[in-house]
Amino acid sequence: MLGLMQDWPLLVSKFIDHAAVNHPNREIVGLLPEGGKFKYTYADMAKRSKMCAQALERAGIQLGERVGTLAWNSHRHAEIWFGASGMGAVTHTINPRLFPEQLIYIMNHAEDKLLFLDITFVPLVEKIAEHLKTIHTYVIMVGKEHMPETSLEGALSYEEFIGAEDGNYDWPVFDENTACSLCYTSGTTGNPKGVLYSHRSNFLHTLVALAGDTLGIGGQSVILPVVPMFHANAWGIPYAAAGCGAKVAFNGPHHDPETLHQLMMDEEVTVTAAVPTVWLGMLKYLQATGKDVGKLTTVTIGGSAAPRSMIQAFQDDYGVRVNHAWGMTETSPLGSLGSENAAVQNLSKEEKLDIQCKQGRSVLGVEMCIKDDDGNDLPRDGESSGGLYVRGPWVVKEYFKGDAGQILDDNNWFDTGDVACIDEYGYMHITDRAKDVIKSGGEWISSIDLENAAVAHPDVAEAAVIGVFHPKWDERPLLVLVMEEGKTIGLEAMNAHLVKHVAKWWLPDDVQFVDELPHTATGKISKKDLRDQFKDYKLPTA
Ligand code: ADP
Repeated sequence: MLGLMQDWPLLVSKFIDHAAVNHPNREIVGLLPEGGKFKYTYADMAKRSKMCAQALERAGIQLGERVGTLAWNSHRHAEIWFGASGMGAVTHTINPRLFPEQLIYIMNHAEDKLLFLDITFVPLVEKIAEHLKTIHTYVIMVGKEHMPETSLEGALSYEEFIGAEDGNYDWPVFDENTACSLCYTSGTTGNPKGVLYSHRSNFLHTLVALAGDTLGIGGQSVILPVVPMFHANAWGIPYAAAGCGAKVAFNGPHHDPETLHQLMMDEEVTVTAAVPTVWLGMLKYLQATGKDVGKLTTVTIGGSAAPRSMIQAFQDDYGVRVNHAWGMTETSPLGSLGSENAAVQNLSKEEKLDIQCKQGRSVLGVEMCIKDDDGNDLPRDGESSGGLYVRGPWVVKEYFKGDAGQILDDNNWFDTGDVACIDEYGYMHITDRAKDVIKSGGEWISSIDLENAAVAHPDVAEAAVIGVFHPKWDERPLLVLVMEEGKTIGLEAMNAHLVKHVAKWWLPDDVQFVDELPHTATGKISKKDLRDQFKDYKLPTA
C-alpha cells in the first residue's frame, strides 16, 4: 500500500521560491570581480533567477543541456544555479584553476552549450575558445558598462542577457531525478570524471546540510562560503542558505585574509566554511594584527585535514567552534561532520580536541564502513584502519557518460580511496588517501598525522610527507617543509617536536626544504607532483 501524501518533486527551484516568499528582505552581499560591493535581497535574487531561466530558454537551451560556469562566488553565480537548473538545464560548475587542457577536455566532454564566465576568466577562455566544440554562446558576468574588449564571438554581458526578460515565469515541474548540476573531479589520476547530481540528491543534501549538527545555520545566520561554488557545490551552502533565509556574504575573487576579514566584520558573519589553508592564513592574520573575529561563532573546515593546533587556536583564543567536515565531489559533498554528540560531551578538553581532529560522524543519509584489503568489514574501535566506503542518496552511482565503468560494489558501496578508522562514538578519522599512505615494514604510517604534527611547530609554514624507497622497510617517510620566513630547523630538532605527537617509528628519516609545495586545483597538496619532484632522492638511511 502506498502512502497518501502529496507527491511533490524535490526540485532546487523550491529553495529560491521559499526564500522569496518567507525571507524576501534578507540580504545577499558580495564583492564583485569587476570591483565594488553589491547588495540585494532574496526577493531580487528570485526574480533575477527567473529572468536568467527565461534568457536561457530564449537562447535555445533545452532540458538536460549543460550550461557551464567559470565563476567566483557571487550573487550572479547563484542566480545561474537557480535559473539554469530551475528551468531544467544542468549547471556545470567548472574549476578555473585546472590546466587549460583539462578545461578543454571537461567542457567538450560535458558538451556545454553556453558558458557564463567572470570577467577575470575572459583571457583564459579566449585562449582556449577555438578548441571548445559545443559552446554557442558566451555570457560575461558583468553589466554592459564593464564589458571588456573580447575575441569571444558574440559575447553578451550578463545584465543585458537577463535584462531583456521580465521575471514572470513559473518554474517548470519535472521528475526530481532529473539531472541538476555537474561537477568534475580534479583528475589527479587520469582524466577528470563528471559527477552528475540530481534535483533530488541536491534537495536531500540541503535538508541535511541545514540540520543543527551539520552546518547548523538558520534565518539569523550570516554565512560566508569561502569554499568556491565550483568546488563540490560550495558544500551546498547557496541552496541551504536560501532554504533557511540565511544572509550570504560572497567573497567574489578574494581569498586573502585581509579582505575576508573585512567582509566578515562589515557583514557580521556568524558562520563560514573553507579549506584549512584559508583558515591558517586567517589565523596568522589575526595573530599578526591583534584583530578579533566579530560575530563569528562557527567555522566548518574540510577538503583536507585541519591541524589540531589551528582548531585549538580558534577555539581557545577566539571562541570559535571548529567543525571538521569530510566529503568529496562524489558525495555532493557532505559525508561527515564533527559536531559534538552526547556521548563525548563529558570527555576532557584534550580528549574532545582529539575527536575534533577526526573528520566527524556520518550525517543522516550517508552510511559509512571501513574494510580491509580483502573486503572484510573492520570494527569501529578507533584503531582498525582500512578503506573507507560510503553509500547514500547523494553519493555517486556512476560517473557521467559511464566513465570508469562500474564503480559500486554489490552492496552499492562506493570506495572513496581514503583510508580511515571509525571510533566507538562513530567519529571517522581519515589517516590518508590510499595512494599516499606510507608502507613501512608492512605497517602503515599516516602522512596526514605527521603533516599535522609538523605544522604545529611554530616555525613551520606548510608540511608534506611522502613515502620514499627504503631497501629494508620498503618505504620510509620524507618530510618536506616550507619554513616561516627566516626560520630553519634540523631533522633532530624536528623529530624531537614530532615525537610528542606520533609513534617513534613514524618519525621521518629525513627532512627537505622547499620554497613552495605543489598544490592541486582544489588547493590540496599534490603528493603526486611532490613524489615526481623527489623521484631521484635517496634517503640517508637507505
Ligand atoms: P579533489 O579530489 O578533486 O581534490 P574532492 O573535494 O572531491 O576534490 O576531494 C575529496 C577528498 O578530499 C577526500 O576523498 C579526502 O581524501 C579529502 N578530504 C576531504 N575532506 C577532508 C578532511 N576533512 N580531512 C582530510 N581529508 C579530506
